[in-house]
Amino acid sequence: KVVCVTGASGFIASWIVNFLLQRGYTVRATVRNPSNRKKVLHLVNLEGAKERLHLFKADLLEEGSFDSVVDGCDGVFHTASPVRFVVEDPQADLIDPAVMGTLNVLKSCAKSPSVKRVVFTSSTAAVVYNERPKTPEVVADETWFSDPDVCRELKMWYHLSKTLAEEAAWKFVNENNINMITINPGMVAGSFLQPEVNESIEYILNVINGKSIPNKAFGWVDVKDVANAHILAYEIASASGRYCLTEKVIHSSELARILRDLYPTLQIPDKCEVDEPYVQTYQISKEKAKKSLGIELTPLEVSIRETVESFREKKIVNF
Ligand code: NDP
Repeated sequence: KVVCVTGASGFIASWIVNFLLQRGYTVRATVRNPSNRKKVLHLVNLEGAKERLHLFKADLLEEGSFDSVVDGCDGVFHTASPVRFVVEDPQADLIDPAVMGTLNVLKSCAKSPSVKRVVFTSSTAAVVYNERPKTPEVVADETWFSDPDVCRELKMWYHLSKTLAEEAAWKFVNENNINMITINPGMVAGSFLQPEVNESIEYILNVINGKSIPNKAFGWVDVKDVANAHILAYEIASASGRYCLTEKVIHSSELARILRDLYPTLQIPDKCEVDEPYVQTYQISKEKAKKSLGIELTPLEVSIRETVESFREKKIVNF
């Protein structure tokens, strides 16, 4: 079968492409600049890539950019979206590419009768940022939606971009009769194939370097589990709706503790320097992903160790 992966050179997408090739699919992979060898080398070197990987140039902000890529595909994995927590112009840097880009991809899918299912990489960012209290006994699940006003109030522009993109996507697919599933992962950790450090693993790198232990609590999940979930959501006919994927929600100080336990020589402060109380953790349900996709999530300690091992292999850290 022929499938398409948008934003194929990214952290999560590279693992999706890898697993799709391993499973025998022919993969049309979109990147903004296929002639940038540095960005695509890790993809073209994957097993099966020579025979079954085809690179396409496509930009989220270019109308019709995805038409010819999507046409003839059975499934579309839409992962492309800017992932940056600090930006100058939230509208231009995050919201436009996330929302207009997603609609752009979905419009191409609507024009192409070959497309049977779209799997869209949404986020926990589109799930938990609302007025509901978040305390250790609270369990968020797929019925939760983030509130754009809360994201605006907190100036969480990336979270706003993902919330608006998912909202727009559901509206469009319902009006145009497209079969779509969303995967809503927490912060993604684990071994990485691409040469650059993306935002979520940079968060871990900053803790390792002692640069920052923010007073924040995030859910975390392994990149291979996220990639597998995308493929299972496409392959399993009965899969539907949204799938939250979070192994555990932890405070940054707990991330520091896990890193120190794994690498005792690391000099990481054991608490964050704030006068206010620590932000509380909460839970995110694993039930739906387990029941309908059969996914058992990798323990967070393993994902964090694999992230650090990738940093070491790529000489990003020197211990
Ligand atoms: P990366 O930063 O590694 O990759 C993002 C990809 O988006 C890149 O391949 C980039 O393409 C592409 N992209 C960005 N802007 C554009 C544009 N204007 N046109 C075309 N492509 C564009 O991200 P991740 O792998 O971390 O994230 C992938 C998806 O998963 C995103 O949708 C993100 O919101 C979501 N997600 C990520 C989480 C995480 O913790 N990492 C958690 C939850 C959800 P190019 O290489 O061509 O520049």
